[in-house]
Amino acid sequence: MDLFPYKPRQNQKAIMGTINTTLESRGHLVLESGTGSGKTICALSATLAYALEHDKKIIYITRTNSQQQQVITELRSIRLHLTDEKTKEKIFGVGIQGRSNMCPMAHEDNELSQGTSEELSRFCANEKKKARSSKKNGCQYYRHFVEDKEKVKQAVQWVQNTLPTVEMFIEYCEKKNICPYELNKLLVRDALVVVVPYIYVFNVTIRNMLFDWLGLSEEDMILVIDEAHNLPDYIRDLFSSQLSVWMVRNCGYEVDQYGNPSMLDGRLSVKSFCKTLEDIIREIRDSYVYNILENGLRSVNGEKKTDAFLPSHEFVTELTSRMGITPKQLHDIIDDLIAYGEKIQENKQKQNKLPRSYLHKLGLFLDFWINLAHEQYAKLIVDAADGKNPRIEAYCLDPSVGTDILTKFYSTIHMSGTLEPLEEYRDSLGLSPKTTLVSFPSPFPRENRKILYVKDVTTKYSELVKDEGVMDRMWDYVFGICNTFPQNTMVCFPSFNTLSMFQRNTDFSSIKRSIFLEEQQMSQSALMDLVSDFKSHGENEGNGAALFSVMGGRISEGMDFPAEQLEIVVIVGIPYPKPTARQRGLQRYYDMKFRKGWEYTVEAPTARKLLQTIGRLIRDESDRGVAILLDRRAPRFRKYIRDLEPSSHLLKDVQEFLALR
Ligand code: SF4
Repeated sequence: MDLFPYKPRQNQKAIMGTINTTLESRGHLVLESGTGSGKTICALSATLAYALEHDKKIIYITRTNSQQQQVITELRSIRLHLTDEKTKEKIFGVGIQGRSNMCPMAHEDNELSQGTSEELSRFCANEKKKARSSKKNGCQYYRHFVEDKEKVKQAVQWVQNTLPTVEMFIEYCEKKNICPYELNKLLVRDALVVVVPYIYVFNVTIRNMLFDWLGLSEEDMILVIDEAHNLPDYIRDLFSSQLSVWMVRNCGYEVDQYGNPSMLDGRLSVKSFCKTLEDIIREIRDSYVYNILENGLRSVNGEKKTDAFLPSHEFVTELTSRMGITPKQLHDIIDDLIAYGEKIQENKQKQNKLPRSYLHKLGLFLDFWINLAHEQYAKLIVDAADGKNPRIEAYCLDPSVGTDILTKFYSTIHMSGTLEPLEEYRDSLGLSPKTTLVSFPSPFPRENRKILYVKDVTTKYSELVKDEGVMDRMWDYVFGICNTFPQNTMVCFPSFNTLSMFQRNTDFSSIKRSIFLEEQQMSQSALMDLVSDFKSHGENEGNGAALFSVMGGRISEGMDFPAEQLEIVVIVGIPYPKPTARQRGLQRYYDMKFRKGWEYTVEAPTARKLLQTIGRLIRDESDRGVAILLDRRAPRFRKYIRDLEPSSHLLKDVQEFLALR
């Protein structure tokens, strides 16, 4: 409590107390507390107090760079508020990002900036080796770091005094011509808090490297997981693997550039192997996703799909039979591809290029695919890029494949504004049944938030087909709200597809106010500009604007809109996951493992998206806002959204709420 830098609210005292009890019992805590309730500062204050007293370190993992910035900013507030100089000195933290963000050489070179952590690590090791053996070659940022001791000393001092965000730290190092990544390795040993992206804990190689830098083992570290509702999907993606036609083509280009060696005693060339692979992926896509029959016609019963399950041995059987090879020979081919890929990597390295080899990746993928423990994975064929880039995919259904590490930490604190049902999160990650599950109610006055839904519209496909008037009524609601109320309004769609359908079928010029539109491919900086422009329309009694966005996206899950920056949220339809083969596989797996397929894989993720979107409205005690769900299925989520109310006169109800200032 001594470290908490503000006047704590009652719920913040309760959060810190719960975290402290968990730490004292070396336990694990899954904690839900509404958006804006101050989880970050509570977790930092409570874990820091414990770590100081018991000689532990805190690994604080975040999903986005802006969350990382917030942790560093709060750490600074804690230090500022302290009066005892000795404790103040100990409050020291470091933020680390991936090498592609932190390496100045990667900033200067487009190809390098696209490198994976393994590729950049290899590139960096070679640059450092060259720098050590020659005055002219190799990385100059590393050379200055090693040779200019005074500059490094000043930099360490500056970081200890300033507690910079990673962005400030990188800028400082680039100006001083020293490598931020190397400097971080030095600093991290003295840090009490290390703020890193998820990958630093869930990728084994990167984790071991971090632990080496820290010179500590897991049992001396407390792990805090921010925005934990993202973690199961994050781990699924991290442990999934795919092979696309685009990647196989790149293998072909690599062969054109570096030579086409033969395999199997000269019976097969790498190029012809890749060509056969590409043909097989396309043909499997045609038959499983497009339902094209052997006679070349499309099955009349086949519905339009984007993916399909692939029988476990289908791809390998097709490959071996078409090439006339045995499974043992396929293993030999895989070994050859990996060995040849390594030579290409070395060659590129000698030319100061990113040591990337697609043939190497291909060999590793095939090795992974044929050795897969398939009950935790679904093998899929997926169509992508309008049919131009189909792929086969080993999709990880079970995030617990990557969470063994969690039990090794001294304690773990998993926090989010939207984690209900908490048992689902615990079970998905394979946490112990003894894990403490706590949900704190919102600390903000209930009367400041209104959540309405209407009963005469839906985005349910079968009803849209039956009743063409549904869409017109939906758009009438959107236009009515945008044109009636001057407050800043965000209109959120279940996906970019539904948002573009809205764009195609309506006339935006009917909305008489400034309009902002989130686009899927928008760069982070363009998105930030768009959001800040939108926010400024709501401030200082300005003429509010309408922002069209999607649920589950960067805006609806990652950005804060305090006070007048956002007062109305319109949700156009329930964001159920698409019924793809991937989704069905997930549901089936959870049915098998927990008997809760629908609840855990459909209902809970949908509720979280809704709550995250609604959560943008209220960020502190004085914030007010109204959310409107345009879908008659909204009451299905009443157990997650308890203050949901039907509305028969939507504009009037919104008007009445907004008038109550
Ligand atoms: S030493 Fe630093 S700047 Fe040089 S290549 Fe490695 S990460 Fe990049």
